[in-house]
Amino acid sequence: MATERTFSIIKPDATRRNITGAITKMLEDAGLRVVASRRIRMTREQAEGFYAVHRERPFFNDLCAFMTSGPVVVQVLEGDDAVVRNREVMGATNPADADEGTIRKTYAESIEANSVHGSDSPENAQVEIDFFFKPDEIVG
Ligand code: GDP
Repeated sequence: MATERTFSIIKPDATRRNITGAITKMLEDAGLRVVASRRIRMTREQAEGFYAVHRERPFFNDLCAFMTSGPVVVQVLEGDDAVVRNREVMGATNPADADEGTIRKTYAESIEANSVHGSDSPENAQVEIDFFFKPDEIVG
């Protein structure tokens, strides 16, 4: 197994309910290490840029409005097979489909307000990490 990095966001539904620590504990318990973390209020421009691949999807405007509706915590996670490991502990996009014990099954409010984002490939992880962090802000 290769040590790799992935990118995570704790979304506004979770910061609103003060469960960033509880979610981070689930990430850590899954073998992921937080090597960078920053709480920010995403701008509309950042949200549209970050989710550009979804620009044509019907939920794009709602998604950008949601992601800018409150603070988020952007994080870089490190560990063996971090991308897959993070996707496993996150659970399915729709909490109704998520497995027991996953973050989304435990905490998500809806398919949109689903508490966490996680990169879906190592290539996208690098792009997403670079979107929010400078190299010297990541301390492994
Ligand atoms: P993810 O990789 O599991 O986060 O899922 P996607 O990349 O497909 O979607 C990105 C984000 O858009 C999801 O995490 C949700 O916040 C949101 N989203 C996805 N599908 C829907 C949908 O059908 N309706 C709404 N309102 N939001 C959605």
